[in-house]
Amino acid sequence: MGSLKIENVKKSFGNVEVLKGIDLEVEDGEFVVFVGPSGCGKSTLLRVIAGLEDATSGNVLIDGRKVDAVPPADRGIAMVFQTYALYPHLTVRNNMSLGLKQAKTPSDEIARRVTTASTMLSLDPYLERRPAELSGGQRQRVAIGRAVVREPKLFLFDEPLSNLDAALRVNTRLEIAQLHRRLSATMIYVTHDQVEAMTLADKIVVLNGGRIEQIGRPMELYNSPANEFVAGFIGSPK
Ligand code: ADP
Ligand code: MG
Repeated sequence: MGSLKIENVKKSFGNVEVLKGIDLEVEDGEFVVFVGPSGCGKSTLLRVIAGLEDATSGNVLIDGRKVDAVPPADRGIAMVFQTYALYPHLTVRNNMSLGLKQAKTPSDEIARRVTTASTMLSLDPYLERRPAELSGGQRQRVAIGRAVVREPKLFLFDEPLSNLDAALRVNTRLEIAQLHRRLSATMIYVTHDQVEAMTLADKIVVLNGGRIEQIGRPMELYNSPANEFVAGFIGSPK
């Protein structure tokens, strides 16, 4: 299971209200993409969903339970960041294993999961290397692998392809789509790239200034945008 319900979530930093009342339901197994301009609150919303940031008001429910009532290790959420956030002194294998070791997962189980994830992500030849010996695309695959080994029910991706060049962006995007089909986990994916949104999403959430402008399937937004903002954002190539 990995369903999500967001009820009237607001978030302020000091006097500035960054999320102005977000309501959203995500079904188990859905691939949902948040799009919107820089500064509209995408990362903040993702961090609130992950429980890394408390909402000022409103509720985030994962499989019907309030996210802040569940200890972080038991939430079944894994987040992948734009900057990879790998440990430079650890090998690929140990970067992927660390969270499981901390959770006291048995070592044979860790080895099994690392093997499965590294095969899925074509990382087998690199398991004993350190991040500095990898390309940007390989590093991002390690960061994704580190999420996969935790077997989360909900993946959160925050602009995972932004630091990659164009060719790698396409490859990594296809790998993420393939992972979604294989794992049948729920995925929420933040981007400001219309092509990524249109190709990956079951459902797109268009954010602007801390509010949702429209929620719909890619072709619904493309063919019937609710307003000029959505039309400009989804319709026009970057
Ligand atoms: P996006 O990911 O859509 O680019 P963010 O969620 O990162 O947008 O940021 C939304 C707004 O909230 C921005 O104006 C940003 O400066 C502000 N913001 C984000 N995090 C903090 C924070 N920890 N403290 C103060 N302001 C923040
Ligand atoms: Mg952001």
